[in-house]
Amino acid sequence: MSVKFISVLRCVICHGNLSVTNEIIMCAKCQKKYPTKNNSIFFRKAELGDRLSSQVLSKAEHDYTTLRLKAWVKTNPIFFNILYHLSATFIGRSAKEVISSLPGQSIILNIGSGVKKVGKDVINLDYDQFIGTQIVGDVYDLPFKDNSVDAVICESVLEHLIYPQEAVTEIRRVLKSEGLLYVVTPFMLGYHASPGDYFRWTEFGMKELLNGFQIKESGSAWGPTTALVSILGRWLSLVLSFGSRQLYQLWQVAFIFILAPLTLLDYLIGRHPMAPDNAHGLYFITYKK
Ligand SMILES: [Zn+2]
Repeated sequence: MSVKFISVLRCVICHGNLSVTNEIIMCAKCQKKYPTKNNSIFFRKAELGDRLSSQVLSKAEHDYTTLRLKAWVKTNPIFFNILYHLSATFIGRSAKEVISSLPGQSIILNIGSGVKKVGKDVINLDYDQFIGTQIVGDVYDLPFKDNSVDAVICESVLEHLIYPQEAVTEIRRVLKSEGLLYVVTPFMLGYHASPGDYFRWTEFGMKELLNGFQIKESGSAWGPTTALVSILGRWLSLVLSFGSRQLYQLWQVAFIFILAPLTLLDYLIGRHPMAPDNAHGLYFITYKK
């Protein structure tokens, strides 16, 4: 844990500075101690945790098989990355590419990172502890000082939040002036619990959500073929599951990989100027106004 990294953190209770003494991370103002385990610092507040998850548990149940499979895959980062790249053809500008132009000492935060590692010095923050998570925290109450972060990566996260506008406001608070916010969200994609799933945005809807940001570039992250193939896979799963929720979910996962080669067609049509209107997912490169 570098000193520079600690210096941009703040107490989530009183917003005081944090100090490290004998490996113990503590608020210098209110003396609150933040536990650490396997290189993660735990900032999550129980009451906020309830706010995030209590409303979604019942909804998550009907996607339970998929959730369990996802959780299992996320225990192995290499396996997760292979499956992630095999499942669909990404045609947008990647987070890795976008942050490559930032200076070496930049503070870059990946919110809702899961096990994805975008770059060596990127700070992974998630609500749950995964391999490589440095901050276990809450997107509505980030343990970072105002104007302290150079860039935020937020991939496939906003749609899973009950209050996405609040999360965007909080991200804007921690970003420096003209700081980079890179967002990926699904668009033409069916319900996918993680553990809940609440929103989709058009390009124009996202511009409204990100009204505190200047959008420099946006486009298809995954194209219309991926959208078509995803819906076809889900439709076939419905037909072949004979009313069983569990069979539907297993088929759904199977068809992602069976049909994945078709998504290569997005290299041909995914860059059509009208493709984002029907894309599976969109990306946005934006700067804090
Ligand atoms: Zn404090």
